[in-house]
Order: sequence, then C-alpha cells, then structure tokens
Amino acid sequence: MNLKNYIAEIQDFPIEGVLFRDITPLMNDGEAFFEATRRIQEFAETCGAEIIVGPESRGFIFGCPVAVNMKIGFVPVRKPGKLPRKTISYKYDLEYGSNELHMHADSIKKGQKVLIVDDLLATGGTVEATIKLVEEMGGEVVGCAFLIELLGLEGRKALGNYNVFTVMSYE
Ligand code: IMP
Repeated sequence: MNLKNYIAEIQDFPIEGVLFRDITPLMNDGEAFFEATRRIQEFAETCGAEIIVGPESRGFIFGCPVAVNMKIGFVPVRKPGKLPRKTISYKYDLEYGSNELHMHADSIKKGQKVLIVDDLLATGGTVEATIKLVEEMGGEVVGCAFLIELLGLEGRKALGNYNVFTVMSYE
C-alpha cells in the first residue's frame, strides 16, 4: 500500500512559500490509517517502548492508537496553559518567535522506555524539545517515530544518535 497516495500537498499554506503536507486524507481512509499506525507500532515494539509521548495535536492522532494497541500509556505534550496540574516546560526558538511545550511533571517514571510519536519531522525542534522534557524526568528515549520526514530540513541531524523511524519521506 503506497501511503503517499493519501497525503495531500497544499502550496502556500499556512503562509506563502510553504508546501504543507496534509495527513487528513490518510486519516479519512480506514485501511491507510490502520496501515500507517501498524508500521509505527512495529517500530515501537522493536524499541521495547513502555510508554508513548506525543506532541499536540497530530502526535496524538498516531501516538494514541499505537499506545492502545500495545496496552501501554500515552502522555500528551502541550502548549502553555492546557495541562491542569504541575508541569515542566521547555522553550525553544523558531525562525520567527519561540515555542514552549509542557508535560505533566509526574508523567514519566525514571528509567521508563519512551517512544516519541509525531506526524511530521521538519527541523526537529518539536521533537528535540520533547526529548529534553522526557529526559528531565529521567525517561529513556528509545526511539522517535514520524509518519512523514521532510529530508531537506535535516531534522534527523538534530536528533544525533537517537533511533529515528519514518513511514515515508519527501525531498
Ligand atoms: P519541526 O519542529 O520543525 O520538526 O516541525 C514539526 C512540527 O510541525 C510537527 O509537530 C508538525 O505537526 C508540524 N508541521 C510542520 N510542517 C508540517 C506540514 O507540512 N504538515 C503537517 N505538519 C507540519
């Protein structure tokens, strides 16, 4: 099954000059959604993941079904002001401005094997911030899985020696 057939490409979204990869056609198709999730789960099992961490909001879409299928937990990573209990946070720079991500401070146990799941790897800024948060709590990042990798933005470089898996990639 060629999952690329289920990714729409939208020129100049959300701003001019950006070619946006839209995963919603894949989600809309039961077989394609199942297959994408199955491939990420296969990687999660190889890594020995004990818990899945996903950045909002599209990390939830692929992370949650894998967690449920494996009967392991899922931890959301969220923008400021969304999580109701004590959080830890990490702020990182974007081309214009900055982003801040939060996790509940008690969400990962020391030594727990964590798989980070998101829809798309671009510059790697989001996953790097997520890794920082997981490791601050003493979690061990055993892998990072993405549906899509944009090779030109070299996010993999930012991830150094971490075990990275992507279902599909684009130049
Ligand atoms: P990074 O932090 O630069 O690696 O960007 C990855 C984050 O931006 C992910 O959480 C994605 O959901 C989002 N993102 C960036 N580009 C796209 C795109 O073309 N389609 C969908 N999401 C994108």
